[in-house]
Amino acid sequence: MSTKENSPLTEVLKQPFPKKDAHGSISMPVYAGAAFEFDTAEEMEAAFLGRSGKHTYTRISNPTTEAYEQRVAAMSGAQHVMAVASGMAAISNIFMTIASAGSNIVTSPHLFGNTFSLFLFTLKEFGVEVRFCNILDINEVESRIDEKTCAVFTEIISNPHLEVADLSALSEAAHRKNVPLVADTTVIPWCSFDARKFGVDIEAVSSTKYISGGATSIGGLILDYQTFDWTHSRRLSELAKTTGKKAFQTKLRSEIARNMGATIAPQTAYLQNLGLETLNLRFGAMSKSCLEIATWLTTVPEIRHVGYNGLESDSFYALSRRQFGSTPGAMLTFSLRDRSACYSFINRLHTIRRATNLFDNKTLIIHPESTIYGTLSPSHKLLAGVPDNLLRLSVGLEDTEDIKSDIHQALHLVRS
Ligand SMILES: *Cc1c(COP(=O)(O)O)cnc(C)c1O
Repeated sequence: MSTKENSPLTEVLKQPFPKKDAHGSISMPVYAGAAFEFDTAEEMEAAFLGRSGKHTYTRISNPTTEAYEQRVAAMSGAQHVMAVASGMAAISNIFMTIASAGSNIVTSPHLFGNTFSLFLFTLKEFGVEVRFCNILDINEVESRIDEKTCAVFTEIISNPHLEVADLSALSEAAHRKNVPLVADTTVIPWCSFDARKFGVDIEAVSSTKYISGGATSIGGLILDYQTFDWTHSRRLSELAKTTGKKAFQTKLRSEIARNMGATIAPQTAYLQNLGLETLNLRFGAMSKSCLEIATWLTTVPEIRHVGYNGLESDSFYALSRRQFGSTPGAMLTFSLRDRSACYSFINRLHTIRRATNLFDNKTLIIHPESTIYGTLSPSHKLLAGVPDNLLRLSVGLEDTEDIKSDIHQALHLVRS
């Protein structure tokens, strides 16, 4: 039966293992070891040359990880999925695969802190230029693309700015110039967002967030829809002559990822595989609570501004509904008077946890400017666009009344 006949909810639970388990285990076991043994030198050769599909060494591939990757492929519709050690490993491996000295990346400066730092500092030192522009202005984006552009990169909802780019328009602009669209889709899982439909060619996910099933582990995913013609890529055009649409996955899997070595641990693949089974449920429940809390926050006098794309008053409301359906997820932001009001508020919370991360089962608060962006210079902070009176809340699975009353009591104390 085709994997597309069931809903993703069913598919994730019925997905068979890539290879039959010796004991018929219903959960994919953790193959924790480093290496796999062969009967003959010929079998070893075949495995090392990728001709038999057998595992050789866990840095390169592993049965537990393979089962997890195939489940993600079934849920997302991606042609190729690779799990790696973190969300940042996903993003850095993608750019190690497609960028090269002299090439450039067209993107927004409004990005998750480490992605901003990867582009601004790390890749720059390898001769890759980053062209920051207003990703909401498609004409500006298109005008910044040239023959040396290796990708247009965007977050589907920027964290923590909550800006939403028009992905179809963005991918059309990129494709007109023969450039792929790479998107960080961490904030909306596949049950609510079909990246392929909006022209995303390569998807990066921090599976630490929704997928891990409650902050159990750090992980990342690279999804390839095989929609881009890599003969247009400066870096991959030679390889594309023999591998066609598989040029990206070939370069990534058989060279870059194994050389970078940011391998996901099999134990982590097991945990995240388990997280997939409850992803839809947790996402649905957290998102519903988030809308309720965001709506309530708009009525609280001390709160200057509430950022949530699911509020009808939000400027991205219509676009967000078109792209992400009924909910933009469980991350919201709000602003207080100033930094010191934010600190006092944070310090007085009892139920909400003072921690970074998103989509834990617990509600988490952070002051992004002093933490995630804390080591940036004042001018880079300005470019990153994160003001010092902004708080980010990731709504968990607690009773919303308890979260509201915690916010209420902490604000009351700030006021008095
Ligand atoms: C957390 C996050 C990352 C980085 O993921 P890690 O798993 O922490 O490496 C990248 N992008 C976004 C949008 C994130 O929220």
